[in-house]
Amino acid sequence: MKSIGIHPGLASRGVLLVSKRFLLRQKRGAIARMFDKTSSKNADKTTGESESSSNEIVARDNIVQIGDPILRLRTQQVEVADIKKPLVQDTISQLKKCMKSYDALGLSAPQIGVPLSIAVMQCSEKQLKGWTDEIIEQRGIKSFDLKVMINPTMKVVNSEVVNQREGCCSVHGMSALVPRAKEVAVEAFDENGSKYRWLVKDWVARIVQHEIDHLEGKLFTDVMLNETFEFDYWRIVNVRSGNFKLSYAPMTMHNTLKQKIFRPFWTVKYANSPR
Ligand SMILES: [Zn+2]
Repeated sequence: MKSIGIHPGLASRGVLLVSKRFLLRQKRGAIARMFDKTSSKNADKTTGESESSSNEIVARDNIVQIGDPILRLRTQQVEVADIKKPLVQDTISQLKKCMKSYDALGLSAPQIGVPLSIAVMQCSEKQLKGWTDEIIEQRGIKSFDLKVMINPTMKVVNSEVVNQREGCCSVHGMSALVPRAKEVAVEAFDENGSKYRWLVKDWVARIVQHEIDHLEGKLFTDVMLNETFEFDYWRIVNVRSGNFKLSYAPMTMHNTLKQKIFRPFWTVKYANSPR
């Protein structure tokens, strides 16, 4: 298939197909070969169909997990002239949809199976309620409107290193202290193809650095303080004698449980807990 856009057979599952021709234009043979390998695998999983689909890549409606080779690709730049074309706009729409359905603060295109230099970020007032006032103050957490970053580049404005706990939808259930620069300036294109500059610090700067890392094939596990890496639900695993399951589907139960059930356990001081 050479079409661009939603494949009618897959639309109901929220799966978006993107033409490989667009990506081949970027002349990165390695990435094209990766599509040949990963796209048919994705299609098989999604549709149960066995025919080859090497002409498409698949934007998923689930967020891929660490180990998926697509997370290790350096993404391709988007031609500015292509920003308003359906495949870029559809990718952005799918990113927004997934960010919402996973209640994420940021999401990059590779995380839904598309190795283009596109990421979205948002922190709503509602999401702020997931933290205590003390943590909001301590980490410099602020709400901000949805931002689309296409081909972002970044300069460190304040190189002071800040260690804060950070997680990732592609390393679901795990977190660690991650050193990040305190303040950065980003240059990127928005979804209308307009270039903008954005000066951000603290928590927002952390999300920007995390997302730009994704676009370069890096994960927080590459830069974290190793000894602080932990499974967010290790306490409840003990409380339930191991009877605990984590879902990788959108809108998992973990957000609700974390706040309503787990929080009381967090007041207990555990040895070696970096929180
Ligand atoms: Zn991430």
